[in-house]
Amino acid sequence: MHTFDKQAARAATLADPRWVAVQARDAHADGSFFYSVRSTGVYCRPSCAARAARPENVAFHATAAEAERAGFRPCRRCRPHQPSLAQRQAALVTAACRAIEHAEAAPTLEQLAQPSGLSPFHFHRVFKAVTGVTPKQYATAHRSRRVRNELERSHSVTEAIFDAGYNASSRFYETADQVLGMTPSSYRAGGVDSEIRFAIGACSLGAILVAQSERGVCAILLGDDPDALARELQDRFPRARLIGGDRDYERLVAQVVGFVEAPAIGLDLPLDVRGTAFQQRVWQALREIPAGSTASYGEIARRIGAPTAARAVAQACASNLLAVAIPCHRVVRNDGGLSGYRWGVPRKRALLEREAQA
Ligand SMILES: [Zn+2]
Repeated sequence: MHTFDKQAARAATLADPRWVAVQARDAHADGSFFYSVRSTGVYCRPSCAARAARPENVAFHATAAEAERAGFRPCRRCRPHQPSLAQRQAALVTAACRAIEHAEAAPTLEQLAQPSGLSPFHFHRVFKAVTGVTPKQYATAHRSRRVRNELERSHSVTEAIFDAGYNASSRFYETADQVLGMTPSSYRAGGVDSEIRFAIGACSLGAILVAQSERGVCAILLGDDPDALARELQDRFPRARLIGGDRDYERLVAQVVGFVEAPAIGLDLPLDVRGTAFQQRVWQALREIPAGSTASYGEIARRIGAPTAARAVAQACASNLLAVAIPCHRVVRNDGGLSGYRWGVPRKRALLEREAQA
């Protein structure tokens, strides 16, 4: 029979980045996790307006179902077992982001709003509130990101422009200063560097580092040693200025931790995915493997139209900087066995087991 260790329970809650979100009653964290209160037997969303719980009584749960399995009942006030407004809006906005990313030409506001059933005006407001940018800015940023990636890899600037879907280079040069903050040739020469904010927290898989550029989440790293994670970030972004996270930023970390604990929920944050065109194709294919299933390296190679490139696919998986968000843990050997994982085979196994249960 184990006794309740109040000090340990209190320390565990205080060390968890999700506690910051609970104390702030942060509606942005709704849907990414739930918390239960031992003294009342109730579980809540992070934003619940109920009286603050003592940290020693608090436990975190990835899903409402998990909180119920642990014997807690839903709070009557915040109704944590029903989808929140924020969750419904996040789903709409995520769908719109995917539509923008996959469209050849940027969809109109009317086209984007249509599936949501909202008026274009209302949809625009919701999109801006969730992402911080307008649909048009998101489309421009997405296209310029593709241009950046192509520039880094290709010899000719003109070729890069056509690869990225700009139909006339004169139009590209008109907007190049806006999207790159400099001319294309100076970007290729190395150019100026960005600021990257980051913070390190703890999750059930160990230490977790979350980093964000001005374009989106650019790294989610897992490991045992927080210092090693910070060094790895510096190695991967040698020219960036790294800034430790502040209070505001911890909210984002809480959201990512919630997502890592329950990947099926999805992460409704823009990602800043940096890699060669080939790596991007592999990573996009990984994002299309649903939670709870796996694919082999050979299958991914076939899906991206490069059936002999299984080894290169494995290398692209190993270069992934966005743990769980780009689910390289869902790629297995051709015989179904777990092969290497950038962040260790035990973490891969834990993630796959968790997703199989959900
Ligand atoms: Zn509640």
